[in-house]
Amino acid sequence: MIYLDNNATTRPLPEVICSVHKAMNELFGNPSSMHPLGADARRTLEASRETVANGLGAISASQIVFTSCGTESINTAFSLLIDERISQIAISSVEHAAVIQAASRWARGRSILQIPVSRDGLLDVDALASFIQKAPSLVSVSCANNETGILTNIPAFAEICHRHGALLHVDAVQAAGKTPLSLSDLCCDAASLSAHKFHGPPGCGILYLRTPNIRNFGGQPILPGHQEFGFRAGTHNLPAIIGTAIAVESLRDGASAYVATGQLRDRLENRLLSLISGSQIHGFTVSRLPNTTSIYCPGRNAADLVMRLGQLGLAVSAGAACSKGGEPSHVIQAMGFSPERANSTIRFSLSRFTTVEEVDESALLLKRAFLSTLPSTL
Ligand code: PLP
Repeated sequence: MIYLDNNATTRPLPEVICSVHKAMNELFGNPSSMHPLGADARRTLEASRETVANGLGAISASQIVFTSCGTESINTAFSLLIDERISQIAISSVEHAAVIQAASRWARGRSILQIPVSRDGLLDVDALASFIQKAPSLVSVSCANNETGILTNIPAFAEICHRHGALLHVDAVQAAGKTPLSLSDLCCDAASLSAHKFHGPPGCGILYLRTPNIRNFGGQPILPGHQEFGFRAGTHNLPAIIGTAIAVESLRDGASAYVATGQLRDRLENRLLSLISGSQIHGFTVSRLPNTTSIYCPGRNAADLVMRLGQLGLAVSAGAACSKGGEPSHVIQAMGFSPERANSTIRFSLSRFTTVEEVDESALLLKRAFLSTLPSTL
C-alpha cells in the first residue's frame, strides 16, 4: 500500500517504536511515585520535556505540557485562556473540527467570529482586527490547514492580536514535522501539537504555554490534578512521551527533507493536473505545507475515489480523515467553492519518507480510479 495520508496520521519511526517498547518494559514506574522506579521515570519524563522544548524552539522546558493528543491540548488551551476578562472568541472559518468544537464548548455564551478566508484560503486580517478591537478576545488559528496545507503567517497575526490586547492560541498540529517550526517565533500565548502527526506515537499531545505558571491563567485546566505543573490530571503516558521526544529529535535535520518533500509534491501535482482533465489544486499560488495537495477532480465523488484508490493500493483521504462521512468539506466551501466541488476534492499528504516511485505510481492510480468511478450526481 502506498501511504499518502500523512495529514491523518504518520507511521511511527522505527526508533520511536523501539523506545516505546523499551520504556514499557523498563520504565513502568509512575513518575509521581517516591521510590527509585518512580524517580527514574520522573528523570526520564523531565529529560524528554527538555528534548521536546529544545527541538521545538521553546525557551524553557516548563513551557511544555504533555497531554494525550492535539484535541486535548486545544481544549486545555481554551479552558485555561478563557476567563471572565475574555468576552469573545475568533477562530478562522477553515479550522479543524477540534478547534471549532473547543470554541463552542468553552465559549459559554460568548460570541464566536469565524474569520472569513479568500478563495486562496488566506485569512481576512481586517475582519479579525475590526472584531478584536471591540472587546477582549481569544483568537485561535492554525499554522497550516489540514486539508489544503495553506499556511498562515502566525507572527503577523500575533502582532495584530497583541496590539488589540487579544490572546492567541495556535493550532500547530499539522505544521510540526512538515515545515520548520519554532514555538518561540510564533509569538503566541499557547500552541497545540500532536506527536502522531510527525512520526511519533499516538497518545501524546503537546501544549506550549508562553507563560507557564498556572497562576497566570484566569481559566481552569479541564481536570484539576498535580501532574504537568497542575495543567493536567492523570498518570503520565511515559512511553508515548519518550517516543515523542525521539520523534522531535528526528526533526533536527528536517529543513532539507521539507525541500525534498516539496519537490516530490510539485512533481505529483504536475502529473495529476495533466492526467485529470479539469482538475485544480486549492491554494496553488500561495504558501502551503510542502507535503499537501488538495485536488478538485471534477464530476467525481471524493468518497468513491478514495475507496477505489484504496482497492488499487493507495491510501489518501477526502478532506479531513475525521470529517463526518459524506459531508462536503467546510474548508473548501469557506474558500467560496460549491458543495459539489467540496465533495469532489481529495487530499494527498506526503511524508519525508515518500519516494519518487510512489509519487509517479500514485498519479497513475488516480487516473485509473478517475476513469473507473462513475460521474457524481451531486
Ligand atoms: N488540529 C489539526 C489541524 C488536525 O489536523 C488534527 C488532526 O487531524 C487535530 C487538530 C487533532 O489532533 P489529534 O488527532 O491528535 O487529536
